[in-house]
Amino acid sequence: MNDTLQNIQALEILDSRGNPTLRVSVTLSDGTHAAASVPSGASTGVNEAVELRDGDRARYQGKGVLKAVANVNTIIAPLLKGYHASSLEEIDRLMIERDATPNKSKLGANAMLGVSMAVARAASQFAKKPLYQWLNKDSELLLPMPMMNILNGGKHAQTRVDFQEFMVVPVGSPSLREAVRCGAEVFHALQKILAKQGYSTGVGDEGGFAPDLKSNEEACELIVAAITAAGYKPGHDVSLALDPASSSFAEGKNYDLAKSGQGIKTTQEMIDLYSDWTTRFPIVSIEDGLAEEDWEGFRALTATIGDKVQIVGDDLFVTNTRFIAKGIREEAANAVLIKLNQIGTVTETLEAIRMCQDAGWRAVVSHRSGETEDTFIADLAVATGCGQIKTGSLCRSERTAKYNRLMEIEAELQSNARFTNPFAKK
Ligand code: PGA
Ligand code: ZN
Repeated sequence: MNDTLQNIQALEILDSRGNPTLRVSVTLSDGTHAAASVPSGASTGVNEAVELRDGDRARYQGKGVLKAVANVNTIIAPLLKGYHASSLEEIDRLMIERDATPNKSKLGANAMLGVSMAVARAASQFAKKPLYQWLNKDSELLLPMPMMNILNGGKHAQTRVDFQEFMVVPVGSPSLREAVRCGAEVFHALQKILAKQGYSTGVGDEGGFAPDLKSNEEACELIVAAITAAGYKPGHDVSLALDPASSSFAEGKNYDLAKSGQGIKTTQEMIDLYSDWTTRFPIVSIEDGLAEEDWEGFRALTATIGDKVQIVGDDLFVTNTRFIAKGIREEAANAVLIKLNQIGTVTETLEAIRMCQDAGWRAVVSHRSGETEDTFIADLAVATGCGQIKTGSLCRSERTAKYNRLMEIEAELQSNARFTNPFAKK
């Protein structure tokens, strides 16, 4: 085998928000070459692995990543030289041991993840397998149901909408390709409705529209109208999913809907709001409906509506098996959002997904609000058969790149391509 790591090199590049991030290139001894780019969040959980930034105000307002780049080039590269790319678990373990902090703050989770992803990609190329085949262990390959974020608020838009993401889920579509078409048609119908009502049709960080609506509720109403206008039946063909990202507006033990001016709400009032919404709108999934510290609230929310709605923990679990295990034990949710850079290596991400699947929980592979043209998560979702992906709107290339990659995989798999509705009544 000539898949030993010969050269590893990092470069400072830009993400979709114009902030620096890393691209890591890997060369194997047989000449195989692969690269990967690292995403970056805005509404980050406090327990996420550390994204190392320079803090040098003279460059990129302190957001440069030259320290992380140097860590790859001068610490990680010599450490890993000569190891086999196909032994990804060993490579990730070596980096974790070298970092030796609980949250990857020494080497930087961004540095480690860039290497981990690039090594996985190089190994797949060496094995002459598509990345989704190489990452696949014993699960069935499955095209994921997309949750498409067509209206942005919260930290991803400078408007009066407190909730961060309003997504459409094409539950009635027979294939990934048709799901993408459906999402794009609803997206364009929404654009027309917004324009007609005098709202802005500019987009937010994840490519969803960012209108200055009068309330959070109005977002659901307009999206339902857009589904109908596009010729689909709300709840039958297309459902809704929410990510309020509540940690971003938590105030002590309460929630301050400051952007919309709807005032301070208790945990119970938030649960009542979601319970009410689920009777009025075809909502199938609510992510981070409560804040990352509100474990008790999460348990109550799950006990109240968890039998009919998917309750997803993002900031609550930060793709970390330590928190996911606690969540499973305490029945704090029934699904986990999976983000590579929250934990910092591909191996640990795969372990997090496996833990969900073993417990009968769902895993939703996700992008970040700061993205690049890298499509790794599309392959990851298919490989693990997790059944769901969240990768933004139907515009902006860093988002559509993932949908385009999924359509490419679907075409490649031909009659072996499977696509199912995870929300179908059993
Ligand atoms: P982030 O947003 O990437 O800014 O954290 C995505 C999310 O909250 O799911
Ligand atoms: Zn989230």
